Amino acid sequence: RGLVAFEDVHFAYEPERPILNGVSFAIPPGTTLAVVGPSGAGKSTLARLLYRFYDPTGGDIRIDGQDISKVTQGSLRAAIGIVPQDTVLFNDTIGYNIGYGREAASESEIRGAARGAAIDRFIAALPQGYESMVGERGLKLSGGEKQRVAIARTLLKDPPILILDEATSALDSRTEEAIQATLDNVAENRTTIIIAHRLSTIVNADRIVVLDAGRVAESGTHAELLRAG
Ligand code: ADP
Ligand code: ADP
Repeated sequence: RGLVAFEDVHFAYEPERPILNGVSFAIPPGTTLAVVGPSGAGKSTLARLLYRFYDPTGGDIRIDGQDISKVTQGSLRAAIGIVPQDTVLFNDTIGYNIGYGREAASESEIRGAARGAAIDRFIAALPQGYESMVGERGLKLSGGEKQRVAIARTLLKDPPILILDEATSALDSRTEEAIQATLDNVAENRTTIIIAHRLSTIVNADRIVVLDAGRVAESGTHAELLRAG
């Protein structure tokens, strides 16, 4: 499960201003695709369409062969986890943030909620020493720690498809490296879309799509793109 396909997708936020102009690509289940390209190319828009914040004005988006406009919002959101570009945490405890606006969770509730194989990766994604911070109010988290909470929150539902939208771009390079290791770990065996502008964040991608002005300018493996360039 987790085959994602864009088929000749067109999209515009405003009628006279096309943003995506016939985008096609497929991501085999369990592999990682990096989407790179200049600012304004339409990278985040792809993620928003996959999550159905908006619907395409033309073409299809399919998950495991099924048109996403024909599945329920609930099952789509169970299948996909997003770590958005601008993570906003509630001004509350880590537990509350991980519970995502539901009950403030205790450490054991958190462990209970992260079932099975997800648990190790989930715990690994949390800030170091999180156990003592789970219920603490007025936390001062660093940018990297906030990002870890956002990643863990997304992992809690163990989504077969994970979208990381510039998930480390706002961090300094040392923090970025540390979080990158966490992300590589959580991406393993999951269909993952990494939206990135720093090449350092995509070294482990199986395939790369270069998006430019709403079109796929190039796509392939690292080696194929190097040969073509
Ligand atoms: P990228 O992620 O590659 O930087 P985006 O997908 O964020 O690009 O944006 C692509 C284009 O769509 C940009 O020109 C941007 O200004 C425009 N855009 C993004 N969001 C909206 C919106 N909500 N309404 C109108 N235009 C938007
Ligand atoms: P979940 O289904 O995991 O509970 P949501 O569907 O509420 O999560 O949102 C997933 C992520 O997308 C959240 O981090 C949220 O901040 C972000 N998000 C929600 N709505 C929008 C939107 N309209 N545009 C961009 N990002 C959004």
